[in-house]
Amino acid sequence: MTLAAQLLDWYYKNARDLPWRKDTDAYKIWVSEIMLQQTRVEAVKGYYKRWMERFPTPEILAQASEQEVLHYWQGLGYYSRARNLLTGVKEVCAVYNGKVPADEAVIQSLPGVGEYTAGAIASIAYNRPAPAIDGNVLRIFSRLFCLREDIARQTTKREVRRLVQRHIPGQCPGDFNQALMDLGAAVCIPLRPRCQLCPLTNLCKAYELDIQDTLPVRAPKKQPLLVVLAAGLILYNGHYLVRQRPETGLLAGMWEFPAVELTDEQAAASELKETLWQECRQQVNVGTRQYHYIHTFSHRKWDIAFYECQWLSGEALPERTAWLSADELSTVPWAGPHHKVAVALAVRET
Ligand code: SF4
Repeated sequence: MTLAAQLLDWYYKNARDLPWRKDTDAYKIWVSEIMLQQTRVEAVKGYYKRWMERFPTPEILAQASEQEVLHYWQGLGYYSRARNLLTGVKEVCAVYNGKVPADEAVIQSLPGVGEYTAGAIASIAYNRPAPAIDGNVLRIFSRLFCLREDIARQTTKREVRRLVQRHIPGQCPGDFNQALMDLGAAVCIPLRPRCQLCPLTNLCKAYELDIQDTLPVRAPKKQPLLVVLAAGLILYNGHYLVRQRPETGLLAGMWEFPAVELTDEQAAASELKETLWQECRQQVNVGTRQYHYIHTFSHRKWDIAFYECQWLSGEALPERTAWLSADELSTVPWAGPHHKVAVALAVRET
């Protein structure tokens, strides 16, 4: 039997029952694949269900505001994915009459859609023999064919693409790609692959040489940059001071309690007080630390403390700054750990 036949035989007996596999609607596959980037399947299920209840078609999503879309994405992280999805769906409605194109290259021209997602959509929704190569596939093929080069290098990726193209079947390429996803999730896992459960042991060079634990080869990753922050919780007249982050950069457009990046952790109170006046035009006394979180993004790690502040006086608020009541705290999309604090404050005030 060929590699594809062995893999598909296994897949048809072991495929995961996932909500986005109920049909082959290209829009639904697109949404699920974008949600699944950098996110565990179990975490995505609830988000996907709520999303499809609210935005079941490209046309309905295209009419939603960015703020609402971010709200439905809140907690999944990497918010540029949601923004790109909205922009891409608007393009599909405006240019392609609401139907996601079938051609892999055209799909890839949509905002936020990379080679992997385009391949997944083209193969699953339209039966095109397009590879969908993510970290799982790179790992599986580097083991199957004993590739000893760094998996992050373009030359290694090109080699894996060539191998997948050689093995992807013309009949059911979508199933082949999904079978690789499932094999990577449950059997050919990153640490200690479960070769005793694998349908491909007879074809696997790494298994034959008993070096599967040493592959794939990866150059060490850079550590995320540590950023120490102090944020102010200012309650005035039953409302909290909040502001919206800039339209570009990390967590663009999300909401937060006003914060300052500290140059000297000992001086948190004075630096926060100065920032609240300079950037929000509010005079406060900085009180005690109420909450503290460490939050890791892909390239940054926030060490952020939230201080209760006593409001003294203030001028008119600058743009992108607002007072929100405890009830309103749940109506905006929050940046990272600010969400946990907003939830805690809303509970405290009710
Ligand atoms: S035999 Fe082991 S290492 Fe090879 S593909 Fe299967 S699970 Fe991965």
